[in-house]
Amino acid sequence: MIRVTVWNENLSETKYEDVAALFPKGIHGYLAVLFGKEADLDVRTATMDQPENGLPDEVLENTDVLIWWAHTGHHLVSDGVAWKVQQRVLRGMGLIVLHSGHFSKIFRRLMGTSCSLKWRDGARERLWCANPGHPIAQGLPEHFELDVEEMYGEFFDIPEPLETVFIGWFNGGEVFRSGVTFRRGLGNVFYFQPGHEANPTFHNENIQKVITNAVRWAAPATKKPEIICPCVEPLENV
Ligand code: ZN
Repeated sequence: MIRVTVWNENLSETKYEDVAALFPKGIHGYLAVLFGKEADLDVRTATMDQPENGLPDEVLENTDVLIWWAHTGHHLVSDGVAWKVQQRVLRGMGLIVLHSGHFSKIFRRLMGTSCSLKWRDGARERLWCANPGHPIAQGLPEHFELDVEEMYGEFFDIPEPLETVFIGWFNGGEVFRSGVTFRRGLGNVFYFQPGHEANPTFHNENIQKVITNAVRWAAPATKKPEIICPCVEPLENV
């Protein structure tokens, strides 16, 4: 079983009726129900208002993959918690940062850059798969569209990604590295741009597929692969 913790600042859902209508149990609750349908995922949620921002040692140490959604409350996450999450990633925990989580303390710490970008609300997005062989892209079409999503545009101030899995194109002509991977220490990190709280993005089946694939990709390996290289002959045979 992959132990997944869905973390949410849980501010917009309690403040705005349109967001609450889309996610009556919060974005964390919505994603937890979604992941709960997968037999290999063991899911829990955590929110910022809980003690230690919902991430005490007991939770972090028993999490294989942490999902992070946040927007207006980045500064309300304690530096100590951000540091502990960073250390846990370095020791192998997977991290999936969604949408406006690009400005979170944890993502900026792991990237070491400002993570700033261009943005505009109310755009139409076409997501292109730029790496069809990647585990996160499995089962996804060559491209798919979101009728309404917040435009995030280049320049996105991140280090050069390990892999670019999705590229977003918007109806204003902007483009964005919408799905990118990194490795920090032993931890796999995936940043995924779609997911504005006022849009039904997480209701989209393709988006759900990407995030579910990403959870399985980001999970730490439990067994080191056996290294076999049959094409190399022992020196004495050459
Ligand atoms: Zn947004």
